[in-house]
Amino acid sequence: MAKNRIAQWIRPEVQQLSAYSVADAEDLIKLDAMENPYTWSSELIEAWLERLREVSVNRYPDPEARRLKARLRQYMAVPEGREIILGNGSDELIQMVLMAVVGPGRAVIAPEPTFVMYRQIATMLGLRYQGVPLREDFSLDLSAMLQAIQEQEPAVVFVAYPNNPTGNLFSAEAVRAIIEAAPGLVIVDEAYTVFADETFMPQLGDYDHLLVMRTLSKIGLAGLRLGVLAGSPAWIEELEKIRLPYNINQLTQVSAEFVLEQPGELEEQARLICNDRARLQKALQRLPEVQVYPSDANFILFRTPPGRADAIFAEIKAQGVLIKNLSGQGGPLADCLRVTIGTAEENHAFLEALAAAL
Ligand code: PMP
Repeated sequence: MAKNRIAQWIRPEVQQLSAYSVADAEDLIKLDAMENPYTWSSELIEAWLERLREVSVNRYPDPEARRLKARLRQYMAVPEGREIILGNGSDELIQMVLMAVVGPGRAVIAPEPTFVMYRQIATMLGLRYQGVPLREDFSLDLSAMLQAIQEQEPAVVFVAYPNNPTGNLFSAEAVRAIIEAAPGLVIVDEAYTVFADETFMPQLGDYDHLLVMRTLSKIGLAGLRLGVLAGSPAWIEELEKIRLPYNINQLTQVSAEFVLEQPGELEEQARLICNDRARLQKALQRLPEVQVYPSDANFILFRTPPGRADAIFAEIKAQGVLIKNLSGQGGPLADCLRVTIGTAEENHAFLEALAAAL
């Protein structure tokens, strides 16, 4: 019975989707989700708990999160004259942007492979989504992007910079050409920016239709769920109409504000992660069976021998290490696995498990 009603009333594009699934990591070394592996020093934890004592949860949080926004603007060096809007993770910001542009025949494009939520949210909202294939080395195919922009006239173009799951930074010049050609909004998604040397944040002042998206998830605050979108006040004002009231809860507001007053520990952790990324990259390059891709993020994509990715992934998991198996997506990601940079010990455990599995 339920099935019939679902078939009748749930939109077909929703029925065809699968829910975003997250693997169970219990008792495993968790290197699947681009989290920061480090916790905080006991001093920082104590100071945080002291701050939380002042919080009362009987009242709604500040709907505008004013103090947190002021702190974020400073931390992210948002240019003068540009505004920010906050989301419950950057996932929610992607949803807000796409909800604002939904309409018959409206299109969204992004180079692919990329972060799957662009396609997922566009599809669930009934937007037309076109992924434009990257070149074989995962660089941007600028002429294909420009052609898709011309043909589709997309309401929104997403560019993840660095890209997930490939890990590379696209050519800044090519991204600028895309921004200049796009008729609608361009979102440069800088989720991994702390692990890279480049950002489009200073360029916000040059383009009214450019929005730069950030998240605190990858720098060590994934549990807080806080995403930030920066851009011209006129666009942000429209998105504010879509945002649900109080979407950033009190504990997130207070905790994020607290950490960003003293970001030293998180910055030190990011440096460690970048150093360990270089080490892990070298170690992977020494394995003749795998092809390693360059990374400007906190994860590394690598390709295993044809047809063996599922077995290698399962064997690594059997040895207690959870990474991400992308081979099921096929196409350019056939045989590909992705590992998040963990602590030195975790990376070592992963390498041992991989060597055994190969
Ligand atoms: N953008 C990119 C490119 C990502 O890889 C991710 C998470 N994997 C997100 C956005 C979403 O991050 P969050 O919702 O945790 O802010």
